[in-house]
Amino acid sequence: MMTRPYFTFTDGSMLEAGTVYGIGKNYAAHAREMGGDVPEAPMVFIKPPAALLPDGGIVVRPAFSHNLHHEVEMVVVIGEDCADVPACDAQSVIAGYGVGLDMTLRDVQHAAKQAGAPWAVAKGFRTSAPVSRILPASLFTHIPDFEFEVSVNNSVRQKSTTVLMEHNVASLIAYLSTVFTLRKGDCIFTGTPEGVGEVIGGDVLTASMKPCEETLAGVHMLTLSVRVAAL
Ligand code: MG
Repeated sequence: MMTRPYFTFTDGSMLEAGTVYGIGKNYAAHAREMGGDVPEAPMVFIKPPAALLPDGGIVVRPAFSHNLHHEVEMVVVIGEDCADVPACDAQSVIAGYGVGLDMTLRDVQHAAKQAGAPWAVAKGFRTSAPVSRILPASLFTHIPDFEFEVSVNNSVRQKSTTVLMEHNVASLIAYLSTVFTLRKGDCIFTGTPEGVGEVIGGDVLTASMKPCEETLAGVHMLTLSVRVAAL
């Protein structure tokens, strides 16, 4: 039976998942590797809730694509319905933080860019949004920074810190909530650092994330492991 996608928090609580917002080019070095600059306003795309994939899942590349990329990202889960949230109040609408993989059909995305067409297929295909368990926001007195990375078959491919984001979490929530009504269970993939690359059938992707703050880093480490289906 199909079940609705949901987030599982490290304290055992669960939350039905809603819209997945993705942010493009939010790390300068990645914007450069994609051949562009960081946009002044956040670049936003959307994945449907059914794109979400829990830890241990299988990423399935659709047969019409021949270039599946990993993009590791910090994910923010929204904890209440809200609109027009000022950046100074953003923390109050956050339910928690996780690590995710914005799986991207790079060839399809490239063709869409060339054609001036939307990215929904390249970014929102089934299994395109693996997300770890979620650290409750209540563990932190402020919006924390995280170190995060992803390995493919035990070899590190991307490693960075949210300190390097161009538009930080508070400003992303402020921006998104002026355009959209954010709802409890929505999440934001906050952008990927440099080092994106291809994965193929049978590859195992392991992402991890921990707070930058020393005293929290050891106890609040998250991991996410998914495998790419053989085609
Ligand atoms: Mg991304």
